[in-house]
Amino acid sequence: MTTIPNLLGVHALVWVGGWSKDQCREAIKNSAEAGYGLIEIPALDPKSIDVEHTKATLKEFGLKGACSLGLSFDADINNDDSEIAKRGEARLMDALNVVEQLGGDYLGGVIFSALGKYKFPPTKKARDNAVAALKRLAIAAQAKGITLGLEPVNRYESNLLNTGSQALEMIKDIGEPNVVVHLDIYHMNIEEQDLVSPVLEAGNKLGYVHIGASHRGPLGTGNIDFDSFFGALAKIGYKGTITFESFSSTVVAPDLSSTLGIWRNLWTDNKSMAKSAREYIENKIVAAHKN
Ligand code: MN
Repeated sequence: MTTIPNLLGVHALVWVGGWSKDQCREAIKNSAEAGYGLIEIPALDPKSIDVEHTKATLKEFGLKGACSLGLSFDADINNDDSEIAKRGEARLMDALNVVEQLGGDYLGGVIFSALGKYKFPPTKKARDNAVAALKRLAIAAQAKGITLGLEPVNRYESNLLNTGSQALEMIKDIGEPNVVVHLDIYHMNIEEQDLVSPVLEAGNKLGYVHIGASHRGPLGTGNIDFDSFFGALAKIGYKGTITFESFSSTVVAPDLSSTLGIWRNLWTDNKSMAKSAREYIENKIVAAHKN
């Protein structure tokens, strides 16, 4: 077996659309059996997660847990209204506590804004509110040994950060060492000039990576040039987590699936799909390090 420098993760929505005890166990068990070392658990509603049970199940299967979320429009730090921003910050603090209780060290995603289509560009005041809230969150996270990741997403899922450059600029404004760029190749394919320069620009501030196909279906299909991207990761010596994201109408999470526009059935057999995705990623990493 080849050793690769990255921990490979898989998003829970490959397996389950909710987080009951049974769903938690199914997702963690399947992730381990498909050869992953980490599961990314959506924490859109952090208080609904049974942390004791989740932590015990992670331990049973020897998996690490990370959390990701996008805020909602009624609890959004990227808003002029200080009450709405405050509700967003409280939700982020709840999510941070979940990561800590799970023994994890990463909270990422669209933690800087609501996840969804805004009908207007960001305002200066809204961005200032987001930066101030993330600074407080980052300071709280430092005490828990947790890193925060800002994941730029496409224009239909946030108005604030759509590119890696924008994330780097915001990280500078936040001014705390434990905030990193979280690049997702699916969103990069929509918003960036190419798949290499954002990686090189982020350099050692790149802290987490999402891999998915252009239509969020199985890897090895779609139109993304993975070789360029993995080449860039090898060039900067990226040793962080790489997590596979894929969504199909086969598995539905009531809120998240609609927000992400998962209307089509792109796979039905998630076990074989996730296993071949892991092998695909491993092969790309090995090939990139040979060049
Ligand atoms: Mn992503």
